[in-house]
Amino acid sequence: MKLTQDLLIRLQAGERPTAPELATLLNAQGKACDLIYQAANTLYQRVMGYVVHLRGIIEFSNVCKNNCWYCGIRCENKQIERYRMSQDQILDIARHAKRWGCGTVVLQSGVDSFYTAELLSDIVRQIKNETGLAVTLGVGVRTRDELALIKSAGCDRYLLRFETTSNALFSALHPDESFLQRIRCLNDLRELGYQVGSGFMIGLPGSTAEMIANDILFATELKLDMIGCGPFLAHPDTPLAGKPLLEDRSMYYKTIALLRLLNPYAHIPATTAFDALEQDGRNLVLTRGANVFMPNLTPGKYRTQYALYPNKPDVDEEGEECVLRVRQRLLALGREIGTGPGHARRVSVES
Ligand code: SAH
Repeated sequence: MKLTQDLLIRLQAGERPTAPELATLLNAQGKACDLIYQAANTLYQRVMGYVVHLRGIIEFSNVCKNNCWYCGIRCENKQIERYRMSQDQILDIARHAKRWGCGTVVLQSGVDSFYTAELLSDIVRQIKNETGLAVTLGVGVRTRDELALIKSAGCDRYLLRFETTSNALFSALHPDESFLQRIRCLNDLRELGYQVGSGFMIGLPGSTAEMIANDILFATELKLDMIGCGPFLAHPDTPLAGKPLLEDRSMYYKTIALLRLLNPYAHIPATTAFDALEQDGRNLVLTRGANVFMPNLTPGKYRTQYALYPNKPDVDEEGEECVLRVRQRLLALGREIGTGPGHARRVSVES
């Protein structure tokens, strides 16, 4: 307990901890664990008020050429039906998102070359022109030229997780990609003026507190605008089927709390996977450092097919219902809903 208190004081003073020190915090139990949650919540409230931003997510294609070992939409999974949404369908949802009070739409998909940089630029431009919403893209690694074209269409942000900092684990899980390629892409994004989001899966098979500590430190070094992390959940139709959760469930939440403590201004979403981990998991993360909620706006008929992991929540409701429930949920937690785009603070163009 005393050790946790001392480490927290140093963190709060802006000191960068070592990986072993962070691992100690990740292993904290009982009252010491609660202290970490409280420190993260206090910092979030001090820096961001009680505001939570809504980013409506549209999972517009589950076609993927990659074969990542953990992911339910990997190309070798023949158990799911594949779908692609049209430009009009995507635009229609973005219009609704605006009406429902989302400041941002997040367009996410598998690694699907059907959506060329030209097509993605058209989609982004149309959404921006018609709705004025902030647009975030999460479509995997793209070349610098492609990213430049999409940026010139007005795209605001980009999400690309590094997934793990263990090079050996990264290579084992990604037959089609390299860690360096992802880092290069993140650098391109930053240089091109995007607000950049990255992050990792918590509790990949074989991970230890020390490895998670390294992931937290690496995410912090990247000086990210958004940090998206969620629990790894084994999908039955992947090579990682049946892999267990972390024995200490609180480690998932402590990871988010520590990310907040090290990155006071970053946008940190309560990712959907937390609700698949346990009921109301996202509410818990919102009281332990997270400040962004992503209502799912993907049409009901496609949601079950965008199954990255099992037990995905809200697969039986439509966008409007989802946003309404999210609003109730946040108000019940005493949170205010952010207005405007909720841009990153460092590269702020806040209106
Ligand atoms: N094609 C895009 C989007 C990938 S899906 C891209 O490459 O960025 C978005 C995120 O879902 C991934 O980055 C991964 O971290 C997460 N994810 C995939 N499978 C998962 C699983 N089984 N459990 C938890 N998270 C998973």
